[in-house]
Amino acid sequence: MTQDILTLADKHYPEVVRLRRTIHANPELAFEEHETSKLVAETLEKVGAEVQRGVARTGVVATIKGTKGSGRTIGLRADMDALPILEATGLEFASKNPGKMHACGHDAHTAIGLGAAMILADLRDQFAGEVRILFQPSEERNPGGAPFMIDEGALNGVDEIYGLHVIAQNDAGTVGFCEGEMMASADELYITIKGKSAHGARPQFGIDPIVISAQVIIALQTLVSRNIDPFSQGVITIGSIHGGFAPNIIPEEVKLVGTLRSMTKEWRDYAHKRVVEIVEGVCASMGASCDVHIDKGYPVLSNDPSKTRFAEDAACELFGSDKVFKAERLMGAEDFAYYLEKVPGTFYRLGIRNISQGITADIHNDHFTIDEASLKTGIAMQAYLALKALNA
Ligand SMILES: [Zn+2]
Ligand SMILES: [Zn+2]
Repeated sequence: MTQDILTLADKHYPEVVRLRRTIHANPELAFEEHETSKLVAETLEKVGAEVQRGVARTGVVATIKGTKGSGRTIGLRADMDALPILEATGLEFASKNPGKMHACGHDAHTAIGLGAAMILADLRDQFAGEVRILFQPSEERNPGGAPFMIDEGALNGVDEIYGLHVIAQNDAGTVGFCEGEMMASADELYITIKGKSAHGARPQFGIDPIVISAQVIIALQTLVSRNIDPFSQGVITIGSIHGGFAPNIIPEEVKLVGTLRSMTKEWRDYAHKRVVEIVEGVCASMGASCDVHIDKGYPVLSNDPSKTRFAEDAACELFGSDKVFKAERLMGAEDFAYYLEKVPGTFYRLGIRNISQGITADIHNDHFTIDEASLKTGIAMQAYLALKALNA
């Protein structure tokens, strides 16, 4: 079976490269993936998949049924949105939409989803059950496309799900896995400290929100230094502070904006409570009042241990164990986490680096690109995972 998959990956590779370049040249931002979505749906129809368009606005759901009868349903996921970046790669198929760029590799993810569909359609007579491929909008922008795909039923009946993401720190031809918590939850903090304006030379008549905000920022650092298990991880960053407009005026209020990242649901909930307690406590001790708003983003991404080992075994069978690496945990966030809250599965890394060809730029960089050989690895891996899971 692994040889069949690799042969079919070779067969479909030129078309997958063509699709990836077409998508790369025509990037669309979150929830605006109209042309990408159309190309995806038309390609899937040609392959003979059942296609549902307009899921979560611009998403597409494809179903490929095996001819051996009914059985389980395996989900595969691809995200389709680009980033608001001006591309500087100089590639012949560089972005034709100035200020928009596939700098996170979602063009590759989408083309890989289509390539996996082609292989699975060729192998329909090898399996019972079905493969559901979710092409979702908006991974980059909170609240993400995944919760809308789930709300509209894209995950109904799916028994397990697999997704991948390109990584610029590993070579093309390799894949990496990580059991358990792999990526962080990401929440935004909006804090307003309300004091009392006064003359800068007569502070006794005011309540200085600038001095208080300094205390608040320092006190919030104890969340990570004192309120987390030293073997666990969390980050709090205040990325913006605004208040005041003149050297001799104590302003009325100061606004702080920040991000809070955690690796466990438990600490995330606890940290939310502590942020409110710390800000309210410090402000109260100094006579100020405050507003604390936490805008919840993507949850912690937690890979099911047994499905992760299953996927890692599949990769070893397909490519050999020397092509498999241990994926690092990252404090970045990813809306694939929502699917993993509903069904078991794993999110794994696809190496795209090629040092000899100078392909080393990181994602979200205006020089980012991929070694396209990684597309072949991706389509073989996704298709084989689905087949192996259905036949398990
Ligand atoms: Zn990204
Ligand atoms: Zn991404």
